[in-house]
Amino acid sequence: MNVLVVGGAGYIGSHCVRQLIAAGHRPVVLDNLAYGHRAAVAPGVAFHELSLGDEAAVERVLRTEQIELVMHFAAYCYVGESVTDPLKYYFNNEVATLHLLRAMLAAGVKKFVFSSTCATYGVPATLPITELSPQAPINPYGQTKLDVENALKAVAHAHGLSFAAFRYFNAAGASEDGVIGEDHSPETHLIPLAFDAATGRRPQLEIFGTDYPTPDGTCLRDYVHVDDLSRAHIAVFPKLSAPGTALFYNLGTGRPTSNREVIRAVEKVTGRKIKMIESPRRPGDPPALYADSTKAQRELGWTIKFPDIDSIVATAWKWHSAHQTGYGR
Ligand code: UDP
Repeated sequence: MNVLVVGGAGYIGSHCVRQLIAAGHRPVVLDNLAYGHRAAVAPGVAFHELSLGDEAAVERVLRTEQIELVMHFAAYCYVGESVTDPLKYYFNNEVATLHLLRAMLAAGVKKFVFSSTCATYGVPATLPITELSPQAPINPYGQTKLDVENALKAVAHAHGLSFAAFRYFNAAGASEDGVIGEDHSPETHLIPLAFDAATGRRPQLEIFGTDYPTPDGTCLRDYVHVDDLSRAHIAVFPKLSAPGTALFYNLGTGRPTSNREVIRAVEKVTGRKIKMIESPRRPGDPPALYADSTKAQRELGWTIKFPDIDSIVATAWKWHSAHQTGYGR
């Protein structure tokens, strides 16, 4: 299939591009390089440097590249920033997506795979989180993703769009061959920051909150390997044949991992001790988030190749240790 990967130069999108190639599809990347890296796009892949607001140009790409399905990864993802600068998130994550959808309808492309997030659930009342858990985001980031999910339902109903929205838990890890990996600027995620503290690029690592009602007092998260995520996006293709299909899946391993456990895994793989500072809780952090992903496993035959934090962190370290300044800005 000819697949347009919007945000294909970003962290998850670039991994998906390589998985698409491995599965025999033809990815085409559209990215404005606001946060993405040209070097993350697999060699030989058609690349269009464009913003979604340029709807006419996006429509032209859809037509000329004979796109049959669009995957959309191009969103801003800093929860804290979404609170301090909500319009940035509403414009980029919501308005830009609406432009993309309108361009798709104009070009007659009616299959869509959307990056959603467990942040749409807010602070869950029960764990693990299923797709039927109530969605009540506690920050604009989660809200923009939920708003797009709702827009997609309406567009599916009105225009026969078929879509799958994947609600990711904590995407982590890097390609097994160490060729591409995670490079955010600024970096706010625990695993890359822990690597930097282990290697001395940063003096220490702050742990945000050690008084949570969890076994070791730190937050529990569900880390899922970026290539496992990517494979689910491709496994869903056969489900999108009937017009008007609307699918929602959680993607996580279902295994809760505490921040202290992540740090131990990083110390183990790097063989170095991390200097830790116990800091106050980070606003907006739910104590525990982990997925029930049995729906994706049952319906898509999705299998998890990296079920534990050690194996995920090992792939991340392979890339990180060889690219300490990321893709090199
Ligand atoms: N975290 C931390 N120190 C850091 C960065 C993150 O203690 O320097 C914690 C954060 O508070 C959360 C967990 O690590 O409990 C995962 O945070 P991350 O930002 O990686 O992902 P999120 O769960 O927010 O999507």
